[in-house]
Amino acid sequence: MKIRLSLLAVCLSATGFAQAQSVQVAAARPEVIAATQKLDAQVIAWRRDFHQNPELSNREQRTAAKVAEHLKKLGLQPQTGIAHHGVVAIIKGGRSGPRIALRADMDALPVTEQTGLPFASKVTSEYRGEKVGVMHACGHDAHTAILMGVAEALVAMQKDLPGEVMLIFQPSEEGAPAGEEGGASLMLKEGLFRNFKPDAVFGLHVFSTLPVGTIGVRGGPLMAASDKFTIKVIGRQTHGSRPWGGIDPIVASAELISSAQSIVSRRTDIAKLPAVVSFGAIKGGIRYNIIPDEVELVGTIRTFDEDMRQAIFRDLKNVAEHTAAANGARAEAQVPDEDGNPVTYNDPALTARMLPSLRAVVGADKVIEPSLQMGAEDFSFYAKEVPAMFFFVGATGAGIDPVTAPSNHSPKFLLDEASLDIGMRALLQVSLDYLQQTQQK
Ligand SMILES: [Zn+2]
Ligand SMILES: [Zn+2]
Repeated sequence: MKIRLSLLAVCLSATGFAQAQSVQVAAARPEVIAATQKLDAQVIAWRRDFHQNPELSNREQRTAAKVAEHLKKLGLQPQTGIAHHGVVAIIKGGRSGPRIALRADMDALPVTEQTGLPFASKVTSEYRGEKVGVMHACGHDAHTAILMGVAEALVAMQKDLPGEVMLIFQPSEEGAPAGEEGGASLMLKEGLFRNFKPDAVFGLHVFSTLPVGTIGVRGGPLMAASDKFTIKVIGRQTHGSRPWGGIDPIVASAELISSAQSIVSRRTDIAKLPAVVSFGAIKGGIRYNIIPDEVELVGTIRTFDEDMRQAIFRDLKNVAEHTAAANGARAEAQVPDEDGNPVTYNDPALTARMLPSLRAVVGADKVIEPSLQMGAEDFSFYAKEVPAMFFFVGATGAGIDPVTAPSNHSPKFLLDEASLDIGMRALLQVSLDYLQQTQQK
């Protein structure tokens, strides 16, 4: 996930998928429970090791090596070095059936840990030229450990497995350093699905705003598309006492920011889906009595629908160029200015189909429909290629209010390790149910 998430308003929807009489629950698989009970302690140990040794995006060398070593030990033939440090392996079942992919992300964040855990990270690194602490503040240590456990369980069942499972250990979900490419989009660009096109892809995220023991999922859009923009307003420098002697880019920028507020409030159908346009930084000028040459504005756009996303790009560019022109200035609007993340879209039919499997893991009343999340995920790139389902695994421990608990990306983000077992069981139950149901069709 790419931003500090706003509080999650969980709705145990009266209209949604929680109507008592129609709730379908699959049978919890005894083989999944048995396998995860055996693996739990090992998965916790892996997670603590990753937690203590976090690596920034596109620098996941050690993590990738640990993953590859484990997969080799299981008798798999992992491919390494995909999109820098990505690791991929395929488990071929003993019986024919569909293909699925399971994804875990491996990178950590430039955050100085303040959890006080005995295995807290003391690692530092360089980020944008500054020395920073490094922490698994988004919980990707848990995702990697969970998928390693899932791999081991699936290999043990390989003979009877009806189909094939691709394991994707992905680097750089949080975003590659400036000037580098990375993450899901680069893995796909390097041909991840070229020779193995899955019929479905599944992924999970541990989530502070849900209590441990719950799972959050919804069909359709789940997490926002996230796009950065940069607008330069170019005027002409002059003395502050003689504004008529130049062109003031500060006043033009002020108008531009005000006008941009009407893009969402007046021109976007927010009855359909929400959207956000936020300015995050304004840079311009050096001294109180000099009107500068130019002002730079940067910000973010969040949307849940591709057409709305494109419309806001056009609108913001228009507002920037025309407001600047009305002030005699000029705008160079890069909207967006780099590849953003698309909407994380859960295939509605696939999600409806897999809901009973998730309910089997935690109980029908513990699978809840979260509100739309303004945070973004690069899992969205896989979801653009094949039907996908991404779900949240509650990570905040009993006795702590998930609403006020430090969120993902916080230096105090605290993961209840019971969520590792739940994540593992959820991925296994979903995978086995999907493979067997599809094969039986
Ligand atoms: Zn994140
Ligand atoms: Zn994340």
